Amino acid sequence: MKKLTLGLSLIIIIVIISIWYQNRSDLDNNFVSDDLLTSDEEVLLPQLQLVIDDHITTLSSDSENPTPINLTPDSLMQFNFTTQPNNIVETIYSNDNILLTDKIVETPLALPQQEGIYKIELTCTWEDYSSTYSFFVFLDLPITYKINQHSAYPGDSFAILISNVNEEENFHVTAPFYNEALDFYPYEDGFLCIIPIYAWSTPGKYQIQASNSEPALTNTFDVEILPKAFDVQYLQVTESTAAINTTDNSANDQVYFDAARSNPIQEKLWEGAFIQPTDGKVTTDYCATRYTNDNPTPSRHLAIDIANTNGTPIMASNHGKVVLAKELIITGNTIVIDHGLGIFTSSFHLSEIDVKEGDFVTKGDVIGKMGSTGYSTGPHLHFAIWKNGTFLNPWTFIEKDPVEFK
Ligand SMILES: [Zn+2]
Repeated sequence: MKKLTLGLSLIIIIVIISIWYQNRSDLDNNFVSDDLLTSDEEVLLPQLQLVIDDHITTLSSDSENPTPINLTPDSLMQFNFTTQPNNIVETIYSNDNILLTDKIVETPLALPQQEGIYKIELTCTWEDYSSTYSFFVFLDLPITYKINQHSAYPGDSFAILISNVNEEENFHVTAPFYNEALDFYPYEDGFLCIIPIYAWSTPGKYQIQASNSEPALTNTFDVEILPKAFDVQYLQVTESTAAINTTDNSANDQVYFDAARSNPIQEKLWEGAFIQPTDGKVTTDYCATRYTNDNPTPSRHLAIDIANTNGTPIMASNHGKVVLAKELIITGNTIVIDHGLGIFTSSFHLSEIDVKEGDFVTKGDVIGKMGSTGYSTGPHLHFAIWKNGTFLNPWTFIEKDPVEFK
């Protein structure tokens, strides 16, 4: 019995010792393989060689190359690894947004197509390890100019889209039929310039020139201002109404309009065509030549008048921000909406204003009620659209978005 117990104890001790030894050697093996893998990574991770238009850049893993590689629209980017990965995923970033993530099957790499600085990451996987290589590229394209249309009527506008502009590049646009400063708003991947055509412009052929230096380039757009006949109107107003329309009162009101348009919203808030802002009869059209009472000197009516009953709802013609909502002397209860890119609409003579300055409105929102406040002969809406200080034809905006590019 004792021998049996001794024998069993011996077996148990042997088993314990062998389990301990087994565990210990597993542990050692782990340490050994970990050490090996670490030193493998440090020493043997493949290098990436980029070949761009005969220029070679060599990158190590997990290190960012801060200097952008210059690209042209025709650039090809081939790549080699000292050990070819089993799997490569390319990611292109513009700022922090992912533009593209794609598994790469073969060289060359996909490259960005629009002007800008981009970060490209290649995440590579081999049998036992993986690594990410990242670098920056700068794609510089020549500035391009596009016009929305080649003919238009007085009171309409031309729009020029300027693309591929980087910080060091300057451009210039001139239009001989418009003698005020042109302004440029950031738009899509470049800038937008809206050129108003005065209602009194002489019809004929003109050239719009858009140019830049380095490389010097001038684009000439042949455009035509088409002839258009406008209405003539004879208006009778009472003496007390006529007395409102004085130079002093006009100057008083103008201060508020100037302030309202002094800081135009830089982005396009409007969407698509504008809508007719109220129902009723068009009593005076855009650009009607108007003779008032017995004054032999006519004025031009640079808006549309729509007449209906007092209290008829007035709507926002498109999305925008209310920048003036106030009773003025000549224009009565007045609302001005900034639609962005220098485009404003104004509504005059309301009986009631239902919005306040700073409100954002959506196309079709009721903003007030029709009335006859200020210099007015009866309930009607005087509705105008302006680009900075130039009054444009509202019907053109109601027909279609004025800055659509085909
Ligand atoms: Zn009017």
